[in-house]
Amino acid sequence: MNFSRDALSVAMLLTTVTTILAISLVDVGWHFCAILFLSMMKQSQKARLKLRCPIVLGREPYIAIPDGWFNLVYEMCAKIEDIAQQINQKHRQRLFLPRIIAISVESGKLNCEVINRNKDINDLLRKVRMYSAKRCMICGDDAHQFRDSGELISRCAAHRAESGASC
Ligand SMILES: [Zn+2]
Repeated sequence: MNFSRDALSVAMLLTTVTTILAISLVDVGWHFCAILFLSMMKQSQKARLKLRCPIVLGREPYIAIPDGWFNLVYEMCAKIEDIAQQINQKHRQRLFLPRIIAISVESGKLNCEVINRNKDINDLLRKVRMYSAKRCMICGDDAHQFRDSGELISRCAAHRAESGASC
């Protein structure tokens, strides 16, 4: 009697473990697909950027930005590229072409490091930095900045409600 009860327990335990394992595998699979899809999107975005900005992005800069800021970054890089293209036409100044070294988030704002930058680029970087705080980091819509777990983040009304953050 005891033996059959034990066997039943073991069988039930095995079924439970198998079920949990199966659910976990499906879950991991979905996450893996999602991560793969996101990284593919990022690669295509980076390819678009590089194609538009061969001079200023020519040195493989470090780029780590939230998805919602991609258009802002694209426009900024394009403007810096146009300035670089103009400088490139003047033969003697080619040694001093502006190059982007890094684009990242610093204190909740977009930070772009550029070597050989001139006044026009400085002005542009300052404007983009201020403007980035008003763009949702998730979708790029109009946003407000606030602190979430000690970190400054920008969220539009919809994504703010989603995150459940309070001001
Ligand atoms: Zn948003």
